[in-house]
Amino acid sequence: MIGKFYELKDEFKLSEIDVINKMKEDYDLELTIEDKEEIALNLIKKSLSEWDKPFISWSGGKDSLVVMHLVHRVNNNIPLIFADTGVNHPSIRELKKYYEREEGKEIISTTGERDYTFWDIIEEFGWPIGARSSASKKAVSKCCDLLKKKPMEETTKGYNLEFNGLTAYESWTRYCRAKGDGNYKFVKSRGKNGRQVCMPIAWWHTDNVWDYIEKYDIEYPEIYDKEVEGFTKRGVREKTKGIEMDRKAIRVGCWSCPLPMQYSSHVMRQLRTHYPNLWKTLMDKGLAEEVVKRKLGGQSTLIDGFYTKEKEEDWLKRRPCWFDKI
Ligand code: SF4
Repeated sequence: MIGKFYELKDEFKLSEIDVINKMKEDYDLELTIEDKEEIALNLIKKSLSEWDKPFISWSGGKDSLVVMHLVHRVNNNIPLIFADTGVNHPSIRELKKYYEREEGKEIISTTGERDYTFWDIIEEFGWPIGARSSASKKAVSKCCDLLKKKPMEETTKGYNLEFNGLTAYESWTRYCRAKGDGNYKFVKSRGKNGRQVCMPIAWWHTDNVWDYIEKYDIEYPEIYDKEVEGFTKRGVREKTKGIEMDRKAIRVGCWSCPLPMQYSSHVMRQLRTHYPNLWKTLMDKGLAEEVVKRKLGGQSTLIDGFYTKEKEEDWLKRRPCWFDKI
């Protein structure tokens, strides 16, 4: 299963223990992309020597593409497991086909383990937006659980090593977790009897990820090139408590997900600008009405005749940006 190991460059051999320690040390500061590559490959090699049933958690997003490439440099037989939520962005579906057809990658989809569609979730639990009420919280957790987590857990039951593309600088919570636990840890709650989780690019910034993608000419989904003002491929670095975090970089996942609307207008603006048909579908399926309810004060607005379907159409035409954020 382990296959051919990547040979470390002589000048950059770290002992295994050094590698693990460095993971916890936030080694971002002075290292080049080549150094980061070497450390990631060393960790991958170590983890494959310790566990015999590995898989790569693959979303088709930029981070999982880098992890796929790194892991496959060590052993290109390791399967990719794709959390198919049914509403993955179309550019991700295209990319999945590309890797299967053109590069012969084995991509296992979680589709068969999924009993719900996104639209079933809306109907049963409401729109998964924010934590304003216990109903909203429930909708968010049900949506992610039923579309993503549970099908993923079912599909990956027999595996004991997971590679994923989580990066620390994406959010303060992730940063603190990575500082606390490192990026190579055993998680009891995953898999049948727990699972080792390896995050080879935990300490990479968005710039490192794109530098690597460009260096190796890795095929990526077109959505990353669909920028809007303030929301770009590489984003910006902003300091939080003295630490440079990655912000305002394009991410990709479920195209219909309204969660980001609570914090920013960027995601919906990008969808509206570059994928107008998807945006209109979402609005027509009830998101526009949900925005109105939340911004104009609850159900009464809809009952007292002030707000009608005709008005919605008019507002969507005149002020579409009003519907970008809650
Ligand atoms: S990301 Fe959004 S749409 Fe996708 S499963 Fe989670 S809550 Fe649902």
